[in-house]
Amino acid sequence: MQKNDSWIPYVNLSKQFNEEKKLLLPRIEKVLSSGKYILSDEVDKFERQICKYNKVKFCVSVNSGTDALILSLMSLGINAGDEVITQANSYIGSAAAINAVGAKPVFCDVYDDQTMDVEDMKSKINSRTKVIMPVHLTGRMCEMDRIMRIAKKKNIKVIEDCAQSIGSTFNKKKSGTFGDIGAYSTHPLKNLNACGDGGFIITNNKKLFNYIKLKRNHGHINREKIRFFGTVSRLDSIQAVILNFRLKKLEKIITQRLKNASLYKKYLKNFNIYYPEIRPNCRDTYHLFVVQLKNRDNLKKFLFKNKIESNIHYPIPIHKQKIFKYKNPVLIKTEKQSREILSLPINQYLDERDIKRVCNCIKNFFDI
Ligand SMILES: *Cc1c(COP(=O)(O)O)cnc(C)c1O
Repeated sequence: MQKNDSWIPYVNLSKQFNEEKKLLLPRIEKVLSSGKYILSDEVDKFERQICKYNKVKFCVSVNSGTDALILSLMSLGINAGDEVITQANSYIGSAAAINAVGAKPVFCDVYDDQTMDVEDMKSKINSRTKVIMPVHLTGRMCEMDRIMRIAKKKNIKVIEDCAQSIGSTFNKKKSGTFGDIGAYSTHPLKNLNACGDGGFIITNNKKLFNYIKLKRNHGHINREKIRFFGTVSRLDSIQAVILNFRLKKLEKIITQRLKNASLYKKYLKNFNIYYPEIRPNCRDTYHLFVVQLKNRDNLKKFLFKNKIESNIHYPIPIHKQKIFKYKNPVLIKTEKQSREILSLPINQYLDERDIKRVCNCIKNFFDI
């Protein structure tokens, strides 16, 4: 380590804000002085822009990725006694949403690249299975062609957990446009990020759109009338104005992350470290750049000592959390990966010098 090496942070949200504030603050001020804080033009505009970006008919913004998943499940009528097949290597939000509507999350294993193991998923389908919920973890899409073929044949709905995959494509189609609904998060740590909680759903199904649009706002048809009981799951106007501003910069952010990912691949080529290869029919957007190696914990400590921050997404697979009381399946790859995965810093503010420094540090670690 050079004495004057600076800290390489995993994320850099204050830098993002400082860079944007001259243009962004006047827009926020405009919303604040308009007095329209709930379901304003900015919220409508965000939903229109998202439809355009994803080439879908409908979008409903909501107040978190978890709510996007919950409302999606509700719109499909999922409740007690139903089973939803999903991945245990995801963030707790995926399984929590299934639990919130009273259904049972059934976990299937994953491939080496952390995407849904389609054969294992298929083996877990039974008469109670109502939804398959693939998770496009790290911004790498699951094999949606095979998943959709199975779902259609068995008459099972599909909700894509797109919390980490904005901008990702499979066979040139955006994430969230294969299944019945795509659920996104705009949490501050995601690639399209608000300055607080937020999210949205996309769909081409008008019935599901109409239901979720009412459901997120207490079922209000208008000021007086209620169609059904709902929730308070609206996206704030302040977050919408920030997201409208940042959506314009999203492709640039993804491009920088793609660049950093290819630099990692170039410099890590000769080490005994696994990372997923590029598939020619897909665009991965690298919300996370995850490597897998045996002595992960030691490398994480070594990087930290050298002023490099890394993270683990996620150290305890969901089926291993104590809150799941029923008998859990053994998920060989999911469990192995939870001990070997490490997310290297890849945020858009890092350049070639930073990535080289991380890789040099990893080289030194292996040389010891
Ligand atoms: C972030 C995330 C969620 C939950 O989103 P929130 O906005 O935090 O509620 C769900 N699934 C995955 C895969 C996530 O990364």
